[in-house]
Amino acid sequence: MDNGLAGMALRINLTTCEIKRMPTDEKLFRHWHGGRGLVAKILYDEVPRNADPLGPENIFILSTGIMSGCYIPAGSKVEFGSVSPLTNGHGDSNMGGHIGPMLKFAGYDMIIFTGISPKPVYLYIDNDTVELRDASKYWGMGSLDCERQLKKDLGEDFEIATIGPAGENGVLFSCITHDFGRQAGRTGQGTVMGSKKLKAIAVRGNHSIRVHDLSSLKKQVTAIILRTKKHPNMEPWQKYGTAFFIKWSNDNAVLPVHNFQTTYYEDVDKIDGDQLVEQCLITHKACFGCWMNCGKYTKAVIPGKPVVHLEGPEYETGALCGSNLGMKDINHVAYINWMLDNLGMDSMSSGGVIAFAMECFERGLITEKDLEGHTLKWGSVDDVEHFLDMVAHRRGIGDWFADGSKRAAKKIGHGSEKFAMQVKGQEMSGYDGRWAPGMLLSYMTADIGAHHNRSWTITVDLAEGRESVEGRAKIVVYLQHIRPLFDTWCICRLFWGEVDVTLEEIVESLNNITGWGVTVDEVLRTSEMIWNLTRCHYVERNRDNGRAFDYPPARSWEDKIPSGPGKGKGVTKEQVEQMLDEYYAARGWDKNGNPTREILEDLGLSFAADNLDKIGYLGEPIPGGIPPIRGEKYKPKAF
Ligand code: SF4
Repeated sequence: MDNGLAGMALRINLTTCEIKRMPTDEKLFRHWHGGRGLVAKILYDEVPRNADPLGPENIFILSTGIMSGCYIPAGSKVEFGSVSPLTNGHGDSNMGGHIGPMLKFAGYDMIIFTGISPKPVYLYIDNDTVELRDASKYWGMGSLDCERQLKKDLGEDFEIATIGPAGENGVLFSCITHDFGRQAGRTGQGTVMGSKKLKAIAVRGNHSIRVHDLSSLKKQVTAIILRTKKHPNMEPWQKYGTAFFIKWSNDNAVLPVHNFQTTYYEDVDKIDGDQLVEQCLITHKACFGCWMNCGKYTKAVIPGKPVVHLEGPEYETGALCGSNLGMKDINHVAYINWMLDNLGMDSMSSGGVIAFAMECFERGLITEKDLEGHTLKWGSVDDVEHFLDMVAHRRGIGDWFADGSKRAAKKIGHGSEKFAMQVKGQEMSGYDGRWAPGMLLSYMTADIGAHHNRSWTITVDLAEGRESVEGRAKIVVYLQHIRPLFDTWCICRLFWGEVDVTLEEIVESLNNITGWGVTVDEVLRTSEMIWNLTRCHYVERNRDNGRAFDYPPARSWEDKIPSGPGKGKGVTKEQVEQMLDEYYAARGWDKNGNPTREILEDLGLSFAADNLDKIGYLGEPIPGGIPPIRGEKYKPKAF
């Protein structure tokens, strides 16, 4: 195949241990572009709407992208997907490292797992040899420990993805770990893997990927390499990774501090990128085909604790497990990062859940008695260590928090829902949106719950005025079409987006790889199609108007920022409603946040319109026809 595909797909029934090989469905790939797009379509088609996300009817997918593993920079990603146990909607999450490209080199574009294995297993792939193998020996091991052991047992040249005890025990925000520190963290994909008793995936392959026009691709990519090498952004990303952003966020009043109570952290100098490099850095690390090497291989040294080695903390972990927990030593942040990696818990949701629990403790809503005699104070790494052990093993009150902050707040009561900082059950990323309204709207409307990577607007918020919310919806919609494309093609946005490579150039690479001859407008339309399908999936599963699910917790509008450069700032409830109205209008949805037949048919999704119609949640027809933003695209400088 001269189109960037590896050529084969696998369907594995874990209940019966049956492994089926089939040729990759090229038409399906062409229509949905692989990665996130393909995951969205398969989940929509195959998972019954009433299926328990942790039951046998949920499916678990690995999908490589059409561009991953090819002769391009940072074609390193792989997408995981299943209905999320955290949000009860379409769930996906991706990771870098090397396993995505390796899966293609072994000959496979996609793996679909169904059913539940009767005993712990891992998937072994060595080119044409594909086997489910007994994993009893590895069950119970930490993610990092398991990866190390599997490499010892199988060979260093295998690429391995694992889950830890949290995924085995059904913690709803469990992640998948690979390359000793790369995670598919969001939406509980590790939880689904654990529910299927699938401990790990080990892959080795040595086939090559054929592309449509190698000589044009080489010429184009070489020019991009020579140009981006000299880009001024390259050096800070290479030196600090994303960690240098902590100070920037503090200066710009978006850093989450003490469970998003404020956005200003006096001790920021103790946990920022400088400290990471000075105190913890051992060496730099990169994913397949990338020389931005944003990964930082580090150690954490704390008197009285073992010295631990890890990758990170990058920005999100640094913010959510640093300032958000009141940590005052970068080694403590790194140690928490290591614990989470080995337990197999998403460090973003975990940071949100721990901070929520700390605020509950501060307010007396949970006590030392609930915490087996321990406290849970801001800045205490020992308290966090004990609390995480309770959560990962669902012990005592840890069982409540293992279900995420939204569900824990329901059990705790006393108005704690107001400060459980999540949307749709998924905890917010490391930015406070009260004085960055576009960012708040991004969290509110992201199809997988509050996640920055669907749309990140803070530089636009800064440039266009932080007090006004007008016009912000269009930007969010536009970015929600661009950013997820990286997860669809399985290339790294950080590389392509931060050194001024244009969308036109990326589409040219796509065409050189595939021969599809697509345009920028066409790929944006594909992304819009995917976005609408995941929305329909969410509404169909949760059976209420879409608007009901799009609100952030009340802290977002009730509490103004109390300190620092953002003191006194914040959006009002009216502004939140205004942003939602403008957002739905820009999408061509009705006021209830439900997609209409007009927009769905226009995107080729009439089957989804029929399904919404059947359950009574099809949007009201739009007066005056379809008004979406396609014709008047807002083009921010960066994406
Ligand atoms: Fe991996 Fe960082 Fe390179 Fe992206 S920029 S491919 S995350 S090393």
